[in-house]
Amino acid sequence: MEDVKISYTESLISWKRPDLRVGVPVTVKYPLVPTEKPPEYRGKPHIDPNVCIGCGACVRACPADALTAEWDLENGLKSIVSNPARCIRCGRCEEACPTGAMKLTLEFELATPNKEDLVEVVEHHLTKCKKCGDYTEFTERQVEKAFQILPKEIVDANALGEKMQLCRECRMEESVKILAAQGRIIGDPLLLPPQHAKGGEK
Ligand code: SF4
Ligand code: SF4
Repeated sequence: MEDVKISYTESLISWKRPDLRVGVPVTVKYPLVPTEKPPEYRGKPHIDPNVCIGCGACVRACPADALTAEWDLENGLKSIVSNPARCIRCGRCEEACPTGAMKLTLEFELATPNKEDLVEVVEHHLTKCKKCGDYTEFTERQVEKAFQILPKEIVDANALGEKMQLCRECRMEESVKILAAQGRIIGDPLLLPPQHAKGGEK
């Protein structure tokens, strides 16, 4: 039979189209020769460190804990850690990523004597609170990106220019003061119980 050269995707489609079912190889020479992957193949996830802003959207979307965020508040660092050995290739991280940094590649050959070799770490610097000097939960790139993409009216209406330079506690204090000044909190806001004055973990 004549050896017809068609792509992998075409060969899959051809099994549903008997009229096209010509010369489709039943076996392939892989691993002696590289195998072709369809463009929609979901392989090992990869984070582009130049595009990632450290927002953590991929971490929140990952159902398999293959992505985690590690915080070093002593040194003002946040790391996004990808462990492809836990990945189930669902693609949710790629969908959630607002910058296109996270992509599922065509790579599938992950056999290794040490699973740690597969781990990717992207490290980000955190901003410092303008008021108390502690590190905030925002990365420098996150703040930069927010100001690039948010319309000025939204930034001004929510005083984000000021708020994004504060840590969570100072932000809460400022918000409580504003609400009190507007008469929306009765009593001295500084005398509120700590759980109200400080707010909860996100
Ligand atoms: S593809 Fe799914 S399981 Fe894998 S890292 Fe992304 S979200 Fe997690
Ligand atoms: S969602 Fe994208 S930009 Fe945000 S931390 Fe993950 S890879 Fe980086």
